[in-house]
Amino acid sequence: MSANNALHVAVLGGDGIGPEVMAPALEVLRRIEATTDLRFRFTEAPAGAGHYKETGKSMPESTIRLCEEADAILLGACGLPSVRYPDNTEIAPQIELRMIFDLYAGVRPARLIPGVPSSIVGADQKGIDLVVIRESTEGLFASMGKGVVTDSEARETMVITRHTSERLFEFSFRLAERRKARGRAGGGLTCVDKANVFKAFAFFRAIFDETATRHSGVKADHLYIDAAAAALVKRPWDFDVMVTENMFGDILSDLTAGLIGGMGMAPSADIGDRYAVFQPCHGTAPDIMGQGKANPTAMILSTAMMLDWLADKHGLDSATEAGQRIERAVDKVYADGIKPFEFGGSNGTADVTKAVLAAL
Ligand code: ATP
Ligand code: MG
Repeated sequence: MSANNALHVAVLGGDGIGPEVMAPALEVLRRIEATTDLRFRFTEAPAGAGHYKETGKSMPESTIRLCEEADAILLGACGLPSVRYPDNTEIAPQIELRMIFDLYAGVRPARLIPGVPSSIVGADQKGIDLVVIRESTEGLFASMGKGVVTDSEARETMVITRHTSERLFEFSFRLAERRKARGRAGGGLTCVDKANVFKAFAFFRAIFDETATRHSGVKADHLYIDAAAAALVKRPWDFDVMVTENMFGDILSDLTAGLIGGMGMAPSADIGDRYAVFQPCHGTAPDIMGQGKANPTAMILSTAMMLDWLADKHGLDSATEAGQRIERAVDKVYADGIKPFEFGGSNGTADVTKAVLAAL
């Protein structure tokens, strides 16, 4: 925090609809500032495919330094299918930030907001309120860019380390405990793996079980990834917090975003021991960019997650309350019947933003 107690936020709008959803999120935070003792200082910085096209780098050194100095990092979305590294992979500074700042816990809540249509029969009555925690620095992504390809075969390596797994599970149990304390859920923590087939996942599960012995207040159990995928579409209301490997988490968290209305509803946070990046689960959505159709809800809910994390880190009760106010405002907007383009309605970015600001 800077001298005047303002929370310094690094703002990386990125590409595609990234900047389109970032602007509403900053407006929401400005509104919070106007009605609480919280103060923010926003510093915008370049990152993404646009910057790569101009300079040959996914982000400048100055962006990394800014992220290092800031209290928190907000990110829109980065990467465009048409702009690629020489090895044909997409420009992804968001993944580089995970590695640089050791952001091992990818936190992806999926809460079905009343009024939002879900594709799951029964979800309207039973509700969905779960969190997928995706390990974000190793697993099958550990060999990113280092895979070996010859004419006859291709190989990637999966890496699970004790150091990262211990911190990941410790974080996950603590999140489950906090949700329970807030009366949010209480269903416990499920480790999702494939321990019956892969040694690496048996190792992952064993460390989970070790960590569980230190958190007897949380109901801990396991599920294989295939069974978890089926259970999530049949009875998502039975889950509270789920923790899994990087690639499994990538897939499962898109699935859970689908359960709650769509990508535009799903916020996320990449959290490490010291730093954290808050961004929507979705990508840059080139198919709808520049049309005013992007749903800013995921980005706005990501700022609520940022406030909650800052509250926890700095003991700021007003930030906890502000984060909850943002969630309640979003809930009110959907209860009142707003319908973004994303689920067949006709409300664009500006409509959703205006409604959330009014509800605040
Ligand atoms: P990434 O590889 O970065 O995850 P992606 O290729 O998976 O990106 P997204 O950019 O997330 O794709 O888009 C997937 C689909 O969801 C697209 O049809 C897009 O238009 C839609 N979508 C994503 N975000 C939003 C949003 N905020 N509002 C409305 N539609 C969205
Ligand atoms: Mg995706």
